[in-house]
Amino acid sequence: MTSMLGAGSADSPEPPAEDDLPALDKEAFVCPRCGVYAHQHWQILGVGEGEVVEVPGRHSYRSMWKEARCSRCSKPSVWRRDQMIYPLARLGAQPHADMPDEVRRLYDEASTVAAVSRRAGAALARAMVERLIKVLDPRAPKGAKLDTRIDRIRGRVSTPLGEMLEVVRYLGNKMLHVEEPDKLG
Ligand SMILES: [Zn+2]
Repeated sequence: MTSMLGAGSADSPEPPAEDDLPALDKEAFVCPRCGVYAHQHWQILGVGEGEVVEVPGRHSYRSMWKEARCSRCSKPSVWRRDQMIYPLARLGAQPHADMPDEVRRLYDEASTVAAVSRRAGAALARAMVERLIKVLDPRAPKGAKLDTRIDRIRGRVSTPLGEMLEVVRYLGNKMLHVEEPDKLG
């Protein structure tokens, strides 16, 4: 997937431009189901016939749900207001084939929720790193904190990877500690 971030050339397909990404009511975008830039047929998902739901004797409610159906693969994406709800966007690369199952579950959960909540994604990514390092370094003292555990394996990983582990640890901690209101002003 790293090639997606690089500049396009005559030999490789251009990565999707910002303008081609899915957004509410766009006539065409890169389909999240088939990956092809295609026209989208928008339709309001209401209750019954139309977009307005009438509750007798009370208000009427406008449906906030829509679907966009791809002209290429005929599959829908589902939207609530301006947010795509299905399929869920996923951040990050696919997990490595050697990743242990218990770690992979946390990694998958982190990459799925990160699109909706950066805080939740960061907290889960930290939990995933901790789980992974426990597998890689079973001789670490049982109650060791994560910074100690990262220091212990630093010699076994590249310098950038060691730094990245430290960043994930730091951000994961920070996201879980919401600041006191008097510190926000
Ligand atoms: Zn499609």
